[in-house]
Amino acid sequence: MYQKRNEITIYRGSHQIGGCATEIRTNSHRIIIDCGANLPNSNVEGAMGDEALTQTIFSGEPCDGVLFTHYHGDHMGLYKKIPQDIPLYIGSTAKKLLEILTEKLDFGMNTAEKGLPRIESIKRFFPGQKLKVFGDIHVTPFIVDHSALDAYMFFIETGGKKILFTGDFREHGIIGENNTLEKMVQTYIGEIDILITEGTMLSRINETKQNLIRTESDLGKRARELFRTNKESVIVVSSTNLDSIMEFYHALPWGMDFVCDAYQAKLILAAMEDKGKYYKQYRPEMIHGKPRRLYIVGNDMEGLGAKENCYKAVFSILQRKGFVMLARESNPRFKKIMEQFSDPLIIYSKWTGYLDGKHADPKVKEFIGNHRMEKLHTSGHAYVETIEKLIRLTNPKVIIPMHTECAENFRTMPVFAAYQDRVKVLQDGEAYYF
Ligand SMILES: [Zn+2]
Repeated sequence: MYQKRNEITIYRGSHQIGGCATEIRTNSHRIIIDCGANLPNSNVEGAMGDEALTQTIFSGEPCDGVLFTHYHGDHMGLYKKIPQDIPLYIGSTAKKLLEILTEKLDFGMNTAEKGLPRIESIKRFFPGQKLKVFGDIHVTPFIVDHSALDAYMFFIETGGKKILFTGDFREHGIIGENNTLEKMVQTYIGEIDILITEGTMLSRINETKQNLIRTESDLGKRARELFRTNKESVIVVSSTNLDSIMEFYHALPWGMDFVCDAYQAKLILAAMEDKGKYYKQYRPEMIHGKPRRLYIVGNDMEGLGAKENCYKAVFSILQRKGFVMLARESNPRFKKIMEQFSDPLIIYSKWTGYLDGKHADPKVKEFIGNHRMEKLHTSGHAYVETIEKLIRLTNPKVIIPMHTECAENFRTMPVFAAYQDRVKVLQDGEAYYF
């Protein structure tokens, strides 16, 4: 007999952070949410490699589209391996930022390897606008707070069921201020059948306890103190972690200057252009009626000039007033520039896991060297209290954890005690029927 079957399959990400890909399918249609590359040093036993993953998902069976929650590599890094005839979707600002990023990554690659043409072909979706192009699977994207700007949750209606797919999210950044998550869920989503939620922080509880910086706003406050007492600060931060970057930008006292390279400036300008309409932190810092200047390191201004408030960095002048410089440990230019500084303070604004232990990055250590260093970072992911709040607000019948090393903890942690009977832990590749 003909049976109607709707399925959710997490191909990868049921028991690991990053590298995720999830399928939602009905009898006649299917979509893929995220198609991420494995994070470095992520080798979970039994999890598929990148090549095997894309071969399994895109084995020739029709697919209505791949939707990306956000631009982090562990969520969209395998986009080049997706067959050309399958449409890709992402938020509009995310697409702009990706174009800037990909142009840089493409540098020096041969034409066949370049990613920009595919990135330019990505279709854009908009918050709250329901996509009805996937047959009987209807998807409404809702903007969420994350360390990637313009990140989305997906509210999926199919087979008479309501599913919320969180992607990576939090509520302690700029986008999540003023209880936005709660208001959004109450206004547009309400109660649901299935919640597919990230659980990154379940394995980082101790890290959370040790860090006094809870929110991006806390980060801005502490940065303000550090900038006042240090004339030369170098911030090691991901160039696409724009919430933190905007906090640093506004925390800088008026008498001091803001320094970065042209690539970083383009990302900041694109983010401000789109998000300044909605969030005050994404508007220029106005100093005596004029927007703060961005001082650019390197010989090539890459087309940026006075029209964009960009000026060439001359350190002999900048050093008199004091400045902060955004740097990337992967680019030797910044280390070279730092040699001119007398006693710079390094502000380390990335995950502490890159400093020591299994995920330690030798480049980070080398960059910091013997300089003075202060850690100043908030997580891009929801604290367990935030996940609990989302569960409470949406009252799902079934909770499927993913993007976590501790899926089982949803059943055992006291904070989730009231919901333990609803938790359904899937294995990679195992279908959940609804
Ligand atoms: Zn992410």
